[in-house]
Amino acid sequence: MNKLKNFPFKRVLVLGMAKSGTATCQVLVRNEINVIVNDLKAKETDQKIIDLKNKGVQFVLGEHPLSLLDQVELVIKNPGIPYQNIIVEHAIKRGIPVWTEIELLHYLIDQPVIGITGSNGKTTTTMLVHQILNASGQKAKIAGNIGEVAVEVAEQLRSDEKLVLELSSFQLMGIDQFQPKIAVLLNLFESHLDYHGDFNAYQSAKAKIFESLTKDDFLVYNADDPRVVKLVEPSYAKKVPFSRIQKEIDGAWVDEEAIYFGSHRIINLEKIRLVGLHNLENILASVATAILSGANDKGIEQTLSSFVGVKHRLQFILEKQGRLFYNDAKATNVLASSKALTAFNQPTLLIAGGLDRGGNFDGLIPYLTNVKGMFLYGETATKLAESGKKADIEIIEQGETLEEMVKAAYQASDPGDVILLSPACASWDQYRTFEERGDMFINLVHTL
Ligand code: ADP
Repeated sequence: MNKLKNFPFKRVLVLGMAKSGTATCQVLVRNEINVIVNDLKAKETDQKIIDLKNKGVQFVLGEHPLSLLDQVELVIKNPGIPYQNIIVEHAIKRGIPVWTEIELLHYLIDQPVIGITGSNGKTTTTMLVHQILNASGQKAKIAGNIGEVAVEVAEQLRSDEKLVLELSSFQLMGIDQFQPKIAVLLNLFESHLDYHGDFNAYQSAKAKIFESLTKDDFLVYNADDPRVVKLVEPSYAKKVPFSRIQKEIDGAWVDEEAIYFGSHRIINLEKIRLVGLHNLENILASVATAILSGANDKGIEQTLSSFVGVKHRLQFILEKQGRLFYNDAKATNVLASSKALTAFNQPTLLIAGGLDRGGNFDGLIPYLTNVKGMFLYGETATKLAESGKKADIEIIEQGETLEEMVKAAYQASDPGDVILLSPACASWDQYRTFEERGDMFINLVHTL
């Protein structure tokens, strides 16, 4: 088990219990640091709290008394807690550092860390890099914004293992000296502006991933995204581009036939199972990152020829009687579904519908060129049908449930068709989560 080394603080306030707070407490306690937890909603009767209390952790619940700051030298906050929180504001005013648990990795491990961030594609890229490394005979663990808490996985990391981390802008706001060996910046879109205030603040949070890098580290970046190119410019790291458009660059690139790294041909496109141009960008980023980390062509080929997508994100489910079924249940708006629709050249039967938020669906019209039928259910079925009619779609079925639409789409399909669930709407009119909707679709497809 790895221990904190040269850690300068003895008394720490953990702000927000949740998953990352609980893991942080456990690691700090194992390193004999005094811990106070402050949380508005957690309950004294929670078993996790009882266990931590027995280990000497102090709890202040239901309020945010500023006097807590008299007793600590450091605040580690849950990434979701905004900087307007009264404790955070006052800690900063008093010069008390405010971190997220990611910064603890700087004191916990020397093993190489690969940190992946961007507005979109983080989970896909993180999973790809992790799988490629393991398929190349390396030992890599995965953590961060995806799955397990980084500090917990880092504590258990063996000396011959690497850590592949998905990092959100919220997590990155709270780092100081944390230094990945390879940092990856996928893209920058306007998002989370409610948290960060404005786009500049959001960009600055993302830039923190490479601020500590030296000339011995690598920064993999999207050379097709002008905002990314500008942002990474001042970095000292060795910059390694990936591009879907530029050819023969000193990084990862692609032509009609294959993916290359520099002058080296890596894999033929026909072997790759993931679909969608956005996923091609994620693949290029993963290939560059994995190669810099010592991956081999065999590991890349093995992964890319079997990886069918992260669950519910344009995930290939199965082929039945020549029909290809894809689950894109995470697509809760027009933008996400239009991205999915551009992924296919085959005739596509689109299943869509869900919660009505008041907008219309005409934004889909330019992307319906390969769509031969629409199968629409839920609150928005009629609105979607109106947009479908404007696009001259011939087959338009409407119904109440996803089940009816899956059956109808299958009946109307021919061999070679794609049957795609990409709802363009939130799921809450009929399901608790988009995951539940996607799981339902997978079950329905399997039982057809
Ligand atoms: P994240 O972890 O950043 O949310 P995911 O890999 O889970 O990203 O993908 C979520 C959605 O984001 C996908 O379903 C797709 O619509 C979109 N997306 C994924 N990768 C990219 C990319 N490279 N560029 C633009 N959009 C993307």
